[in-house]
Amino acid sequence: MQLTLWWALAFGLLLAIANLAIYSAFDVYLRRDLDRKVRTVAAAELASSSDGPGIHLHPIPKDALADGEFADPFVQILSEDGTVRLASPVIRHLPALVGYDVVRAALDGHAPLVSPVIDGRPGRAAVLRAEIGGQRYAVIVGLFRDSIVAHLSRLAWVLAFVWMAGLAATTALGYWLASRALAPVVGISRRAARIARGDFSARLDPPVRLDEVGEMTQSLNEVLECLHGALEGHRRFASDASHELRTPIAAMAGAIDVTLMRPRTAEEYRDTLRILRERLSSVTALCEDLMLLVHAQEGAPGVELREVPLLPQLQRSASRLAGAAAARGIRIEARDLPELVAYADSRLLARVLDNVLANAVFYNRDGGRIEISGAAADDAADTLETVVITVSDTGTGIPRAEFERVFERFYRLDRSRAAATGGNGLGLAICREVLAVLRGSIRVAASSGDGSTFEIRLPGRVTSSSRRSGPLADLPAPAPALECR
Ligand code: ADP
Repeated sequence: MQLTLWWALAFGLLLAIANLAIYSAFDVYLRRDLDRKVRTVAAAELASSSDGPGIHLHPIPKDALADGEFADPFVQILSEDGTVRLASPVIRHLPALVGYDVVRAALDGHAPLVSPVIDGRPGRAAVLRAEIGGQRYAVIVGLFRDSIVAHLSRLAWVLAFVWMAGLAATTALGYWLASRALAPVVGISRRAARIARGDFSARLDPPVRLDEVGEMTQSLNEVLECLHGALEGHRRFASDASHELRTPIAAMAGAIDVTLMRPRTAEEYRDTLRILRERLSSVTALCEDLMLLVHAQEGAPGVELREVPLLPQLQRSASRLAGAAAARGIRIEARDLPELVAYADSRLLARVLDNVLANAVFYNRDGGRIEISGAAADDAADTLETVVITVSDTGTGIPRAEFERVFERFYRLDRSRAAATGGNGLGLAICREVLAVLRGSIRVAASSGDGSTFEIRLPGRVTSSSRRSGPLADLPAPAPALECR
């Protein structure tokens, strides 16, 4: 509506200016035309009035003037001192039509034009000089302007009508066009209001044409899709997290209820407390994992990337798992491992390596093997210097269809087995988020019934190409880099 109003205002202004210009041009044209006619009539009258022994009137027939358009031409003859000598009937009762200064100008040969008002009627007259028998006269010959005034007033009415009709038509047209053009925008804002009320699955109607509004609709739908995905992800995350927390908490509550059902010995109370302590540890671990995940999703603010030698980092992770691995006869070995450094945060990197190695132990078979190797990445996709670390195990493997799903939060291939390992299904999801922060990546490179290979890519470089193989714990740590002070 406002758009139409502005459009009508602008159009009305332009039309008014155009009408004024037409009116003024017509006015000027009519005045000039009248002046020309007045001079012609005056010249004719002067010739006939002075055609004889003395000055006399010689009225011009009415219809001889511009097809009778200018009725009643009037003539007044003044003597040199400005007194009226002769006058045509229509002005006979009037004194001199012009002042003495005009008479003087005429006698000096200037032929001025004047605009007298005769009995309320506007007129236009030329004042000419006549000389007869040594006498000089000022001859005023004029025409009434009634018809011009009437013409102009008719024109003013026509123009006013055109202005009003034009304004009305353009307002109606503008309103129709604006409503048509803005109809999709109105639809969009209605739908947006519905979405804002909580219907996040709603989308804007797909555009019929790919004009500006169509492109905007498409972009908004993409934004809505992203927002919906993010919201859905957060909702699922919150519900999964609360579900995962509820299970151990319910188990703890159950253990307490059972213990309180009857009086117990001190030993029984101690057992219950021990069980509670264990379950509490897994709840605490889950909470810590959740916090780390959220921290990584926020881009892990405050993380500083430094050069981290990888062998000591791998050895520390392996030593943390040494007990669990030894209990099941699993060997952790390096195969053709060069000296590598990664540009990373060592705490976050340790978390990734711990998790991948822990999985390689937990999902391995008894007496199995874990092989760790590394190299500089050689594909063109990496613009930064990149190193690739692979961790292969001899476990039951991951079906190809699950290669990506194992990185989803709380996703476990075998829930009953995961319960035995104490896994909460967050480990690989954390690895992926953390590596995204470190500008790296992780994927399942290969898997079969004989084991799986995880591939970790990280910004980094090979510092020595000498490759070593053998039990990871036995490899000598690289010499520390010399520091310049
Ligand atoms: P969890 O804490 O359950 O280990 P992860 O996110 O680390 O959670 O792993 C998700 C799931 O992927 C695991 O439950 C397991 O089923 C599967 N998985 C991970 N690593 C391996 C592996 N090396 N071999 C076989 N399955 C694996």
